[in-house]
Amino acid sequence: MNPLLAEYTFPLFSSIKPADIEPALDCVLQQNRVALTSLLQQSTYTWENLMMPLEELSVKLHKLWAPVGHLHSVMDSQELRDIYSRCLPKLTDYATEVAQNENLYKAVQAVKDSRQFVLLTQAQQQTINHALRDFRLSGVDLPLVKKQEFAELQKQLSQLTTTFSQNVLDATQSWTLLINDEKELTGLNEYALVSAKEAAESKGKQGYLLTLEFPSYLAVMQYADDRVLRQKIYDVYVTRASGLGPDQGKHDNSQVMLAILKVRRSIATVLNFKNYSEYSLATKMADSPEEVLSFLRDLARRSKPLAEQDMKELRAFAKAEHGIDDLKPWDMTYYSEKLREQRFAISDDDVRPYFPITQVLPGLFKLLNTLYGITIAENKTADVWHDEVKFFEVKDKSGQAIGYFYIDLYAREHKRGGAWMDDCQVRHKTNTGIELPIAFVVCNFSRPLAGKAALLTHDEVTTLFHEFGHAFHHLLTKVDCADVAGINGVAWDAVELPSQFMENWCWQPDVMVWISGHHETGEPLPDVLFQRLLTAKNYQSGLQMMRQLEFALFDFILHQEFDEHFTAQKIQEILDAVRAEVAVVPRVDYNRFQHSFTHIFGGGYAAGYYSYKWAEVLSSDAFAKFEETGLLESDAGLAFLENILEMGGSEDMKVLYRKFRGRDATIDALLRHSGILEEYIPLPL
Ligand code: ZN
Repeated sequence: MNPLLAEYTFPLFSSIKPADIEPALDCVLQQNRVALTSLLQQSTYTWENLMMPLEELSVKLHKLWAPVGHLHSVMDSQELRDIYSRCLPKLTDYATEVAQNENLYKAVQAVKDSRQFVLLTQAQQQTINHALRDFRLSGVDLPLVKKQEFAELQKQLSQLTTTFSQNVLDATQSWTLLINDEKELTGLNEYALVSAKEAAESKGKQGYLLTLEFPSYLAVMQYADDRVLRQKIYDVYVTRASGLGPDQGKHDNSQVMLAILKVRRSIATVLNFKNYSEYSLATKMADSPEEVLSFLRDLARRSKPLAEQDMKELRAFAKAEHGIDDLKPWDMTYYSEKLREQRFAISDDDVRPYFPITQVLPGLFKLLNTLYGITIAENKTADVWHDEVKFFEVKDKSGQAIGYFYIDLYAREHKRGGAWMDDCQVRHKTNTGIELPIAFVVCNFSRPLAGKAALLTHDEVTTLFHEFGHAFHHLLTKVDCADVAGINGVAWDAVELPSQFMENWCWQPDVMVWISGHHETGEPLPDVLFQRLLTAKNYQSGLQMMRQLEFALFDFILHQEFDEHFTAQKIQEILDAVRAEVAVVPRVDYNRFQHSFTHIFGGGYAAGYYSYKWAEVLSSDAFAKFEETGLLESDAGLAFLENILEMGGSEDMKVLYRKFRGRDATIDALLRHSGILEEYIPLPL
């Protein structure tokens, strides 16, 4: 018997063998196909005879694949990678097959049209509504000719976005600069120098190799004293994948961008949307393009004065301290860093000793207990994929288990970088009861020294809180329908609400007492260090805000206004117009940033880049309720639990948010938390 096909409560990671994966997947896909066909031979359709069995099929597939996908991310091997990439197309084919199954669509529609529908719970109705929406967005109800056209467009889009990203990658890798004399790199820190040296060695060269990979680029922009060198690298970096720059159009994305926009426009039109921005909003919390644009413009209007103030201050600093009269784009990061160093002398190493993981984690659990009444306890019997992984059980007020999570905190070989939360199992009703949710929380913190607790930076603490926000959105759900339980079915621009909300707690003195404690003395983070962290937090927040708004506005307007007469020049004009409206930083007219904007041309953020700010507004406004009613002593935690976290995707976030807050979110709290609303008193230089 293939162990991957066994029924389990918790996945048995140690018994997963790569060789078993593909046969197990083939088997489940085959079983699901047969089951689906027989489901569709019924004469009438109900929640019980169609939707519940459908959910079982997808849960079965998820229970097989979630642990495999997870291992691929955290315990990669060549063998696993090969099998994984062989299996992916099988999964995609199956998903497309289901999404475009006309009979299935009609059957689900029949449940919606039946008399049973109004008797179903909110979560069940939402499951059906989402399913129908997704069927339509997959083109299932189009006439045959249009269906073929739609499939063709999807294929083109996937090829074009791959080409776009490939061009950016190639352009990034096609240029390097070898520096022989260390003196030319004055200003760079030890870490950057060692990296540049290693980069050279890996190419069999002596000296220091500068590249356009982001860490190398950033190190030069931030620290290199040589202004000419900075400009040189800046120029190449901002013209990547354009008709300008040293590779002279070899990886030019001009036509690729136009083709992508054209295909997206056609996809939207085939599905009867006016433009791609409207299509994008079909699955988001924001209702209309007008709502998104006025939201972004309102933020811009109110943040611009501070951004201008930030800029004025930086100019004054560069002039007074360094004799620079004309601040250029390649000076921005450099002098910003110098000003930061001068003003907020605080380094990661100053605070690290105060955040041993053995203090941070219990402190975080205590916060979750205070807010939501839950308790968390380690369970040492679980089967895990690495001996550093820990497994925890979550219980509600009455002592009833409600969910589980794994944490895998430290960087190691064969583990993907970054931090994330993933769903291992989703809460849902089965014939025998409720299957509880399980989450993965993965980070890449520096490994602890042997026998010692890992010491985190404040940034890492914030990251941990962020991922726990996602995890507890997933774990505290009370919804029993898998498709809208936990993080499932939550609109894309709202899914970061619980995670960003959690970050706020890392800035509260009351919580600081719980999560900090010097690893030798146990002393909490001293107030003087905490105040410095706090001041540094909002450094240049006006400039950062305007930069994000520039990207978001450009993305959204471009996808809204595009028509087939567009040229690369017209794209540039749209960007220029947005910049004229919001940008306050120095510019050069040869900057071709859009040619490497992979978020929107190579990834999933098209007409959706605004989501970053949208979710931030929600999370800040949500936290403001705690500030208004008492941080840890109010029942705001309960309101957040009952109206947001427990509800998952069972109802639209707009409705849920109103229930929680008693009104819609406003941007004021975000402006206040970023230091934009405060009365501004410039510090003397
Ligand atoms: Zn997140």
